[in-house]
Amino acid sequence: MVTTRTKVVTTRTQELIKKDLAHLFHGLGRVGLAPEIIWERGKGAQLWDTEGKQYTDMSSGGVHCVSLGFGRKELIDAAYEEMQKISYVSSHWPQSNIQAIEYAAELAEVLPGDINHVYLTNTGTESVEVAIQIARMYWDTHGQVEKYKIICLDRAYHGGSALTRSLTGSHVGLPCSGRAYPGVVRIPNYHCHLCSFGLKYPACDMVCARFVERVIEQEGAGIISCMIAEVAQGSGGVIWPPDEYWPIVRRICSDHNILLIADEVQTGFCKTGKFWGLQHWNVIPDIMAMAKGINSSYLPFGAVGFSDKVYNGLPHGKPFRGYTTCATNPPCVATARAALKIYIKEKLTERAANLGEHLRDRLIKEFLPLPCVDDVLGSGLYYSFEIALNKTTGSAFNLEAAIKARESILSQCQEKGVYLTRLDGYPRRQPIVPPLIITEEELDTALDVIFSVMKEVKPV
Ligand code: PMP
Repeated sequence: MVTTRTKVVTTRTQELIKKDLAHLFHGLGRVGLAPEIIWERGKGAQLWDTEGKQYTDMSSGGVHCVSLGFGRKELIDAAYEEMQKISYVSSHWPQSNIQAIEYAAELAEVLPGDINHVYLTNTGTESVEVAIQIARMYWDTHGQVEKYKIICLDRAYHGGSALTRSLTGSHVGLPCSGRAYPGVVRIPNYHCHLCSFGLKYPACDMVCARFVERVIEQEGAGIISCMIAEVAQGSGGVIWPPDEYWPIVRRICSDHNILLIADEVQTGFCKTGKFWGLQHWNVIPDIMAMAKGINSSYLPFGAVGFSDKVYNGLPHGKPFRGYTTCATNPPCVATARAALKIYIKEKLTERAANLGEHLRDRLIKEFLPLPCVDDVLGSGLYYSFEIALNKTTGSAFNLEAAIKARESILSQCQEKGVYLTRLDGYPRRQPIVPPLIITEEELDTALDVIFSVMKEVKPV
């Protein structure tokens, strides 16, 4: 039987659901379950489904990527014009294309520190894969082939391939297939509210950051190639690290000759109120993974940036074998060039910071005092709160109750025309990540709806 959360009226939607069930296998969808919404179109921060229902997008396209909103003419024109000129050509071997060359130079202008070298990809997953390969290649070139292990964090998300899933902290309720790769060393993350060490910030003296050093000493720096972490964990619930975390980790990695890979797939491109997430701490990584906001996900695209030190340490004259066919695809690159121009011209870093102040104010002053809201975290237009069913009762966390409450919150918001991200593995965290171009009125109206729903959530 076909069941959906949204009331389906039209036969067209019914037909689409039937076809979807019969033929389309979804990522993160439950096998055999019908889609709740079938999206038809979008404009700015507004989305419409096939039933003609309108929603304010408080999720930037569901997975925090459509930062520039829907229907941006500049991005559409850029892809269209480039497709007419040259729809595809390989940049393997000693050959290149104009879009890729110009974009690499333009991106290098805004990348931090000495991150001057750029490799273009199709997805965030590919960016992380390439980042790891570059780190290992760097050590191979230095004759340290035994430096292969990777430090990563609990609750991380780095992608959907076998290696990147291995780097992804296990999701509650999600089977994690990615335990296949050897050399993955997972350590506690930086989430103060649920501290793995059972400590309280700041009395904890940043044990989570200092633990990196302990692990390096235990494993041996001679066999660790790199540490990778999201600047602020996105799919883990938009978890913002405490102020001291990144500077300590940067120092430890430098002291022990471990390359630091920052996953900026979610935090890059203005979302947090700085162009790059790590700029909040003036920390410069050795390698950066980018995607999502890079071109507002108008076409598949991503990039890896790496420092002069890393570039100079690669085996010059030898090939990098991590390539894929569509990396540097000119129309995709053209959308990223157009997006970069918009981020700079429209000063979207400042916009995210300013509108983010307003968002933060409302979350702290109105939402946080509610009986079932706790732990507001984030920066810019990148926030989340905990759906805290036990905040006032002190009862133990109950997964089933958390999922039930979250599903009810999401469906009520949807009913009232607000679309929110669903974090499959972390039902007790609710991200609020609107596109950077959302108007203050749209943001306020959507927050009013979410508030009206959260106000009615009952503690257990
Ligand atoms: N890193 C992070 C931090 C992500 O959030 C994601 C996607 N959610 C990825 C990597 C993988 O990106 P993609 O889905 O584009 O492969």
